[in-house]
Parts: sequence; C-alpha cells; structure tokens
Amino acid sequence: MQLIDTIYIDGQFVTPHGSELFELFNPATEQVIGRVRLADEQDAQHAIAAAKRAFASFSHTSTSERIAMLKRMHEAVVAKEDALYEAITEEYGAPVSRGRWMAQHASNVLLDAAKVLQDYAFTRRAGTAEVVMKPLGVAGLITPWNSNAGFICGKLAAAIAAGCTTVIKPSEMSAIQTRIVTEALHEAGLPAGVVNIVTGRGETVGARISAHPDVAKISFTGSTAVGKSILRTASETLKRVTLELGGKSPFIVLDDANFDEAVPLAIQAGFMNSGQACIAGTRILVPRQRLAEFEARMQQEVARTQAGDPRDPNTTVGPMVSRKQWERVQRYIRIGIDEGARLIAGGEGRPEGIEAGWFVRPTVFSDVTNSMTIAREEIFGPVLSIIAYGDTEEAIAIANDTPYGLQAYVLSRDKARAHEVASSIEAGRVLVNTLAHEPAAPFGGFKQSGIGREYGTFGIEAFLEPKSLLGVL
Ligand code: NAD
Repeated sequence: MQLIDTIYIDGQFVTPHGSELFELFNPATEQVIGRVRLADEQDAQHAIAAAKRAFASFSHTSTSERIAMLKRMHEAVVAKEDALYEAITEEYGAPVSRGRWMAQHASNVLLDAAKVLQDYAFTRRAGTAEVVMKPLGVAGLITPWNSNAGFICGKLAAAIAAGCTTVIKPSEMSAIQTRIVTEALHEAGLPAGVVNIVTGRGETVGARISAHPDVAKISFTGSTAVGKSILRTASETLKRVTLELGGKSPFIVLDDANFDEAVPLAIQAGFMNSGQACIAGTRILVPRQRLAEFEARMQQEVARTQAGDPRDPNTTVGPMVSRKQWERVQRYIRIGIDEGARLIAGGEGRPEGIEAGWFVRPTVFSDVTNSMTIAREEIFGPVLSIIAYGDTEEAIAIANDTPYGLQAYVLSRDKARAHEVASSIEAGRVLVNTLAHEPAAPFGGFKQSGIGREYGTFGIEAFLEPKSLLGVL
C-alpha cells in the first residue's frame, strides 16, 4: 500500500495544503493499492507563483542549455523505466507490451523534443523585420489517466524546449506513475520552479490553473466536455489553449484490401490500449459486398484476442481503468443491442472465467448505422462498430460524418488510391496500411477533437508567440 503525501513545488517535495485522501486501485483486482493526498486551489496558487518566478530567468536560457536539460530529463526517466512499467501495470492495468511501450514513450518524447530544438530557428526574417519566437510564460499542463506519464513528459518536453515554465495537473487516478516521473525530473536537476506538479481534482486544481491570470497557456488532453469548459474559463484571460480531445476514428477498408493484413490491423487499431485510446479505430467501414467475409475474419481474430490479466504476456486487452469506466462501457454495449446493432463478438459482462476486475469482453457489432449512438459517441473501451458502405464516395461521407476528427485509417492494396481517400478525410492524422507513430509529425484534431497540435515543430510552437522587430535590421 503506497501513501503519496507530497506534491512538487519550486524544486521541492512538499506537503499539500489540501487534505483529501483519494484511493488508488489496481483495476485488475479492484483492490485498493494506495492513497494520494490531493492538492487544492491554494497549492495550485503556490505552484503558479513558483513557475512565474522561475520564468524570469528560464525564459532567457539558451537553446543548448535547454537541450542539455531535456537530455538529462530523458536519462532520468529512462533510469526509472522498470518502476514506471510496474506502476502502469499495477495502477492502470496496461497489458505487458502496451505497458512497456508506454514506459519507453515517456522518456522518448523528451529526446524527440531535444532533436527538434537542435534545428529550430527562434529568430527569423520576414521582409524588413526580425521575427523572434518568444516563450508564452507559465504553462498549465493537464493530463488524463489513459497515458498519464507519456502525456506529462510529452507536454513538458515541448514547454521546456520553448522556454516556458510549468504547472502540471496530472490525472488524480495515476498518482503512482506521477510520483515516479516526478522523482526522475527532480533528479534531472532543473532550476527550481520550472516544473511544478500538483496532483488534485480537475474541478478545483485544474479549474484554478485554467482561470489564473498568471498562466499564459493551457495544454490539455482529456474529454471533449472538459476541454470545452477549460476553453470557456481560459477565454476570460485570453490564454493560448491546446486541446487534445476525444475521437471516433474511422477505419476504412477499401474494396481491394488484403484481409490478412486489414483484419489484424482493425483489431489492433480498435483494441489498442484496451480500447481506452482517443485514436482507436472504432468505426470500421467495410464494403457491403465483402461484409460477410470481413465479419467471419473478425470473429476468428477476436476469438484469438485475450482479455484478462495484464501481466500475462498473451493478454492484449486489459481491464478498464475504473468501475465507472467499466459501467460506462457496459452501458454502451446495452445501447448498441437496444438500438438494433448485431453482436458478432463479445457482449455484456466480464470475459468467461473472470470473476473480479474491471474486465470487458472485446466486443464487435455489425449492422451498425452511422446514426446509432455507438457510432457517434466515444465509448473508450474495446467496443467496435462495423458499418457497411456501397462505394468509396459513401465510405468517405460516412467517415467524415462525425463531430470528431482526430485520426483515421485507410486500408488498400493500392497506395495511390488509399492516398487519395486519405486526402479527403477530415482528421488530423490519417494512417495508410500502418499503425506506426511519427514523432516529427504534428498530432491533433480537426473539428471537436481539439485545437492545436502536439509533437515536432508544431508542438514547440504551441508554447511560443512571434514578436516582430522593425527597423533593427
Ligand atoms: P477528463 O476530461 O475527465 O479529465 C482529463 C483531465 O482533466 C484530468 O486530469 C481531470 O482531473 C482534469 N479535469 C477535469 N475537470 C476539469 C476542469 N473543470 N478543469 C480543468 N481540468 C479538469 O478525461 P479522462 O477521463 O481523464 O480521459 C479520457 C478522455 O481523454 C477521453 O475522452 C479521451 O478521448 C481523451 N483523450 C484524448 C487524447 C488526445 O490526444 N486527443 C488522448 C488521450 C485521451
């Protein structure tokens, strides 16, 4: 049983003013594994003040100083990789391969930002003017539970690269991961106040950061509903805001697709991170004339998908993070049945033989129409919808008929044709015949999947503002 009873302000672990104890669970066993003492508004206030003080000198550090810091942070997080992996499995329930990837991703993003910074021109010329990219100021970074360590490090990497100081509000449900990352960052020896970490509730600590006049920038990853409320709050002080929100990504199988490749990819894209992924390909668009063949292949593939103990290397779908999330997913499966979709795999309840833990049966519906609730709303669990289409034009129309626009997938033997379809999809990222990640490419959503971009040059520029100097050249 872990007790996490400090937060991190001004380079020190301190006891929070907030006194609420919040329970941490192992989602695979439903057992309480720890308690975290939550920060409150007053703690957020102190953290913001520390970040503001630190900004005065940190904003003048050189690019090479910040590259050196990012490299030290990277090394410090690498040194904690095993502990982080353990925490991700224990506290979040990620299966082995996913958990390992997540633990490595947390350190990789720091090095990726150092690489981008190496070639980044902070001073440029525009006509007769000199244009200087200036750090925005104190940045508030707010993360969700589905990849807490990775989001903390990714947002922090871009903020530090730009020369901003930070107040981080991680998910309160991921406090063990946060603790490990905080210890690593402390060991990296950054100037006091550059990184402040206040684990607390969204409605108190998160809301305080979003409203505070000394915070210049908010970078938020989480649900669309909370993202909208942050945008409203932040508008009072005209903060710059990056929002990475929900998705309902189409997985478009073109009529010439090779099902030997497309079906396993559909399963991986749909059930990634146990279905708790904003980029999951949850609407699978299949040509009507090949629907029966696709369904049969999906049934075989789902039968091979192991849902259960995240520590078993054969498991690919772990538990949902919380009872609330489990109930939410169960509710959507019921809605799918009630609205007339046809179950071809999975269904309500836990997988066979599992009595405890927030496990869901990997579920696939067919005969789904794009107007059904399960095709419109983000479920955030391993529940996929197969939607049949007539021609490619209709597939594109269905793919784009959503308030979201985070990611999309196109599967075809013909790369040029897939490229053309990908060009018509309204999404921040479209993956053709692959699930690969490219850290140099911008990531973010069209429409209600968000505002702004993370990663690469775009990610760093989200923490910068151009300033033009005329008559100086
Ligand atoms: P959430 O929106 O409930 O919470 C996200 C964070 O915001 C948490 O730290 C929470 O405490 C905080 N928060 C809650 N209310 C707040 C408020 N009023 N002001 C400020 N902060 C507040 O999301 P979640 O349930 O933790 O995560 C799941 C959601 O995250 C899904 O909708 C998913 O699509 C989204 N997500 C998006 C991406 C992306 O990159 N687009 C990635 C992962 C997850």
